[in-house]
Amino acid sequence: MKFDRMVVKNNKPVFDAVVVPIGLFFVKNSSNSPIIYHKITTFAVQNKKLINKDSYYMIRITFPDGSVREYEKGVTALEIAQSISQRLAQEVLAASVNGETWDLTRPIEEDATVNLLKWEDDEGKHAYWHSSAHLMAEALQKLYPGIKFGIGPAIENGFYYDVDPGEGVTIKETDFPVIEKKMMELIAAREEIVRQSISKKDAVAMFSGRDEHYKVELINELEDGTITTYTQGEFTDLCRGPHLPNTSYIKAVKVLSSAGAYWRGDEKRPQLTRLYGITFPKKKLLDEYLLMLEEAKKRDHRKIGKELQLFAFSPTVGAGLPLWLPKGTQLRMRLEDFLKKIQREFDYEQVITPHIGHKQLYVTSGHYAKYGKDSFQPIHTPEEGEEFLLKPMNCPHHCEIYKTFPRSYKDLPLRMAEFGTVYRYEQSGELHGLTRVRGFTQDDAHIFCTPDQVKDEFLKVVDIIFIIFKALDFENFEAQISLRDPNNREKYIGSDDNWERAERAIVEACEEKGLKARVELGEAAFYGPKLDFMVKDALGRRWQLGTIQVDYNLPERFELEYTGADNQKHRPVMIHRAPFGSMERFVAVLIEHTAGKFPLWLAPTQAVILPVSEKYNDYAKRVVKELKRFDIRAEVDDRNEKVGRKIRDNELKRIPYLLIVGEKEAENEAVSVRKQGGVDQGSVNLRTFAEEMAREVEKMMNPTLEQI
Ligand SMILES: [Zn+2]
Ligand SMILES: [Zn+2]
Repeated sequence: MKFDRMVVKNNKPVFDAVVVPIGLFFVKNSSNSPIIYHKITTFAVQNKKLINKDSYYMIRITFPDGSVREYEKGVTALEIAQSISQRLAQEVLAASVNGETWDLTRPIEEDATVNLLKWEDDEGKHAYWHSSAHLMAEALQKLYPGIKFGIGPAIENGFYYDVDPGEGVTIKETDFPVIEKKMMELIAAREEIVRQSISKKDAVAMFSGRDEHYKVELINELEDGTITTYTQGEFTDLCRGPHLPNTSYIKAVKVLSSAGAYWRGDEKRPQLTRLYGITFPKKKLLDEYLLMLEEAKKRDHRKIGKELQLFAFSPTVGAGLPLWLPKGTQLRMRLEDFLKKIQREFDYEQVITPHIGHKQLYVTSGHYAKYGKDSFQPIHTPEEGEEFLLKPMNCPHHCEIYKTFPRSYKDLPLRMAEFGTVYRYEQSGELHGLTRVRGFTQDDAHIFCTPDQVKDEFLKVVDIIFIIFKALDFENFEAQISLRDPNNREKYIGSDDNWERAERAIVEACEEKGLKARVELGEAAFYGPKLDFMVKDALGRRWQLGTIQVDYNLPERFELEYTGADNQKHRPVMIHRAPFGSMERFVAVLIEHTAGKFPLWLAPTQAVILPVSEKYNDYAKRVVKELKRFDIRAEVDDRNEKVGRKIRDNELKRIPYLLIVGEKEAENEAVSVRKQGGVDQGSVNLRTFAEEMAREVEKMMNPTLEQI
C-alpha cells in the first residue's frame, strides 16, 4: 500500500492513513463480516477502518452552465452523470475534463470543469466510433489469427482500421457480414474496456511479443510516461483513448467498404487493408444512414456532372484539372454573375492578376517557406534564370495591388475581388471529382481596412454569406469562430490590442446577426482569428464552405501602410473572404444538394421545346428565338422520336420546363407547358410565358437583404 495521498480529517492531516485506489475492497466491520465497497473508487483507510466520509478530499466540479457541485475525489464522469439523472447516465458517452476528452470511468482527482458528452456532441460520437474501431479490430483478431494492426481512428462518419491480414489473405466484401456478426457477439458479451498506463519498455515488449511491428513502430515514437493501452476481452490496443466503458453501448454495426492504404501514407511502405465501418446507438439510425448513403450515391456530383455534361477530366490535360463543358460553364458563369452583382452592391472592386508569380513574391508572403516543398515546383525562364511559381493563392498579388499607390485612411476599406484561379499540388490518390482538384478558382476577395473597421466589414461579409445561402437554398448552416489560445499568446503574430479588438468584433458581429456560432479557443491561425461556415446539404451532410479570416501577417510582411488622420503611417488589417471557397467545390456541393435539379435561374438549359412532329420544327425554332430575346436559355429537341420519349429523356436531364408544340400551339403563338416534376400547366401564350419566366429569373438574380 502506498502513502501517496494525504488524507485530511477535521482539517488536519492524518499521516498514517492509506488511500486505496479503484476496485473492490473489503473492510471488516465490528461483527467481523466483510463489507464490500464497490461503488467507491478511492477511499481512505486508517487503522484498517474506513475513515468517515467527511474526511476525504472533496473536489469541485464546474459544469458548462457555470454551476458547481462537490464530489468525492476520484469520482468518475459516469458517477457524476448518475448523480444528476439516470437518463443522463445512460446517454453519456465520454466527458470533457478541463478541455480534454476522458473515459467515463477515469477517476477525476482534482477540481475540474466537466462537460458530459453525448451522441449529439462531436467528441462523444468520436469516442463512440473510436471504441467501435477497437470492436471491429477485436472481431478481426478472432476471425483472422495473426492479423496485424496499423491505426484505427474515428472519422467524420464512422471509423476505419488499417490492417495487415497476412500473406495471401484478403478481406472481401462477402466477409463483411461475418465480421459484423462477430462484432455483435462481442457486444452481447458486454466486455469492459479498461485503460492502463504502461511503460515504454513494457509496451514494446508486449507488442513485440505478438509480432505487432506496426504498433512497435508507433510506440518507439512515443514518450515514456504517456503511453496507455485499452483492453477488452482478449484484445489490447495501444491507444490514447478515450473509450466507452464497455462494448454494450454499441447497438448497430455495419462494415462499409475496404480500400488499400499504404502504411503511414508512404507508398514505399507495405500496403494495408483499410476497413471502413460505422456504428450507432440505435438500429433506426443505422437504417437511416444506409438510406442516405444510397441517395448520396445517386447524387454523386461526378456521376451527375457526366450525365448533365457539366465538366470532364482528361488524362492528357492532367489529373485534377477540371475541364468545364459548355453547360457547366453556363452554370458557373451564372454563379459568378450573381456574386459579382452582390459584390458591386457592397462596393467591391474587381481586379485580375496573373496565374503565376515570381518566387520572391511567395518568399515575402511566407508561403514558399511553408508550402514550397510540397507544391508545384518553380517554372524557370530559359534566358534570365528567373523562377516563377503557379499561383497557390491570390493574396500576395492583391497586396502588391494595394502597394501601387500610397493609401490614406480615406481610401479604406478597400475591397478587392477576383475570381482568381490557383494551383495547389495534391497527391493523385487524394484527388476527387471537383472537391479535391489541382487547379481551382476561388471567389476570392481581400478587404484592407483600419483596425476600427474590422467589425463593420465582418458584418457586411456575414450579410453577403446570408444572401448567398438563402438564394441557393442552404437554409441549414453552422458557424464556428476560431479564437486564440488564451494560455499561449506568444505563438500569435500581431498586437494583443488588435487581437482583442478583432476577436470581440467577430463575436459581436455574430451576435448582432443572430448567428449562433460555436467558439473554439486555440483554433485561430497564427496570423488572426476567423469565422467559418459549414452548410448542411439536403442529405444532412456537412460541407465546409465560406471563410472570413482576419490577417495581421501579410500586411506586416508586405509592409502595407496607410496614412492616418494623425498624418502618421499605420498598418492596415487584411480580411480574406471567400463565401463559396472555390467555384469547383461549390458546384460539386450544389450538384449533390440539388441532385442536379438546379433552380431555374441557374439551370444551364432552362427550357427544351418538343415539337410533336417534324412539321412543327420551324415553329419550335421560332419559340427558341423568342425566348432568347428574354435571355432565356432554350433549345429544340428535334430528334425523330415520339414526344413521350422526348419528355422522358429531357426529364432525366433535369430541365426545368418542357414546352410541347403542335398544331394548336403553332396556330395560337402558344406553348404547352410541362414543369419539372411532371406538372402540366396547359397551353400558355408564348409571350406571357417568356415574360413570367424572365421575371422569376430576374428576382432570383437580384436578391436583397430584405428577402432574407
Ligand atoms: Zn484506439
Ligand atoms: Zn487571401
